[in-house]
Amino acid sequence: MKRPVTKTPRKKKTARTKTPAPLPSSKDRQWFRRRLLQWYRKYGRDLPWRNTDDPYHILVSEVMLQQPQVDRVLPKYHEWLGKYPSFAALAEARERDVVKTWYPLGYNIRPRRLQSIARESVAKYGGELPGDEATLLSFKGIGPYTAGAVMSFAFGKRAAILDTNVARVLFRVFIGKGDHRGHTMDKHLWELSRAVLPYKHVFDFNQALMDFGATLCSARAPACPRCPMKSKCQLVKRTTPAAAARPTSRRTT
Ligand code: SF4
Repeated sequence: MKRPVTKTPRKKKTARTKTPAPLPSSKDRQWFRRRLLQWYRKYGRDLPWRNTDDPYHILVSEVMLQQPQVDRVLPKYHEWLGKYPSFAALAEARERDVVKTWYPLGYNIRPRRLQSIARESVAKYGGELPGDEATLLSFKGIGPYTAGAVMSFAFGKRAAILDTNVARVLFRVFIGKGDHRGHTMDKHLWELSRAVLPYKHVFDFNQALMDFGATLCSARAPACPRCPMKSKCQLVKRTTPAAAARPTSRRTT
């Protein structure tokens, strides 16, 4: 008698997402923090938003810096705060004037978003900006990057950031191969940014990361020969410094 054939069910293939690289060891994290802060104390730029912890000032600077030329942002930052010194003043202003004041920074949606944040802050939070992540993210126009910047710069919280400059630095130093874009990489870079974040000096550390990416480890001309990270930089290990000059074109909100 023939026995009934019982088919062994095939195992379903599960899509595995490859992690771009392991997170750095605690020794390497400490090494990176120390080198970065040493560099920043010597070469960091003295910018006005680095001398304040006012949430409104920080938010204005972060939204303005979504366009990368700091020298264009500087005069506008002062003009803006002179004209709209608080969330309340910005909330009351006429939209037309707000957009006009923003000129020539471009992306007129940004001053409108700032004003909508100001109006919500006045309507719901007495003209203040709350310091917790969930509430910050509930504002239209505040994404994970801006929330991290406000939390760490204005409220002294241990919050990671990931903008174009930070993503480029972390990618080059700790990964150095593969595609720097895409959801998986983005997720990994956020994890990296959290992993390397120190427990003290978070304000300086996050400012240093951005400054380092904007000046020394720039998109098109990284100064590898004089870089304090060069002995461990994965990109330098895997390629020539000239090849490091690949731009990234993302600025997160
Ligand atoms: S060695 Fe070059 S690529 Fe690596 S972090 Fe320094 S400047 Fe950037």
